[in-house]
Amino acid sequence: MPQSRDYYRILGVASSASKQEIKKAYRKLAKKYHPDANPNNKSATEKFKEVSEAYSVLSDSAQRKKYDMMRKFGAFTGAGRGTSSTGRGSGSPFEDFDFSAGLGGLGDIFSSIFGRGKKTEAVEAIEQTVEVTFRTAILGGKVPVTVPVSEACPTCGGSGAAPGAQISSCDECKGRGTVSFGQGGFAVNRPCPKCRGRGTVASEGCSRCGGGGEVDLKKKIMITVAPGTDSGSKVRLRGQGQRHPSGGKPGDLVVTFSVKPDRFFRRDGDNLICTVPINLAAATLGTKVRVRTIDGKRVALRIPPGTQPGRKFRVRGMGVERNGKRGDQFVEIDVKIPEKLDERQEGLLKDFAEAAGLKY
Ligand SMILES: [Zn+2]
Ligand SMILES: [Zn+2]
Repeated sequence: MPQSRDYYRILGVASSASKQEIKKAYRKLAKKYHPDANPNNKSATEKFKEVSEAYSVLSDSAQRKKYDMMRKFGAFTGAGRGTSSTGRGSGSPFEDFDFSAGLGGLGDIFSSIFGRGKKTEAVEAIEQTVEVTFRTAILGGKVPVTVPVSEACPTCGGSGAAPGAQISSCDECKGRGTVSFGQGGFAVNRPCPKCRGRGTVASEGCSRCGGGGEVDLKKKIMITVAPGTDSGSKVRLRGQGQRHPSGGKPGDLVVTFSVKPDRFFRRDGDNLICTVPINLAAATLGTKVRVRTIDGKRVALRIPPGTQPGRKFRVRGMGVERNGKRGDQFVEIDVKIPEKLDERQEGLLKDFAEAAGLKY
């Protein structure tokens, strides 16, 4: 029995490591210590088991949460807490832990950490952020989403065995699929690290999935973006997430939309705002401008003489559509001051200044 059950230390990751980091660390170590790569190397095999066990707990969010709680209580600190110097025993990870101290539910917590997943236990949802263009968010549409999921390996059907391999009962757990550890009246079951809870082992592992019975896929699905979608809004797609490890209902996919800014339009509630530059003379004398709407149409807008910078003009019904109602588009006028004038323009402007009694 290893003295330390610090799964984070086993995988060499921080306790704050993300799912991705844990997976990456596991992959690396599993490859390094895989029995196929280390024939007749007992310590590598032991390491491999340890790594698999650590990953089976830390890769499952619910189990990891419970494990973290136990770890906080000090149940897994093993060597770090000086197991041999306490002189109390066998190197069990529990010896510094007083189970009589009124923490009645601990045994249950522990069993549930290491117990096999039940069919009825819900799979945690996968959360994914998806970028949508401003136009799609306003008008609605469809966007592709890539969802990282594991599926039963198509080569071995999830059994982890190579085609034609001999299947025999696992000698580590005697076919039970679980092994127990602990001491005295406190022995708990956890999935057998050798057969990963199956109770059987194959004479030859499936090469496609490495014997794990699962392969990682990037599932591509199209999701519907409702008109008027805002950044940060979420949709939950039932059953589109991770498959259930014990064959129960698959998990959900929760998509959070992130709306890309547009170069021309910005949003203010159900209204859209855009800025249109006109020159000094046009603002002073009045003009007509053609303005694009989010639908791609063009509307003509009369700008009256004497229009001040920042003045907004309303184009009705060209805003964001939500719940059957549509907001407006506001056209904000930006007056451009000419940076360069030719001789004639300069002369005329000087005449204007003089006529207006200006000194320059
Ligand atoms: Zn396979
Ligand atoms: Zn086993």
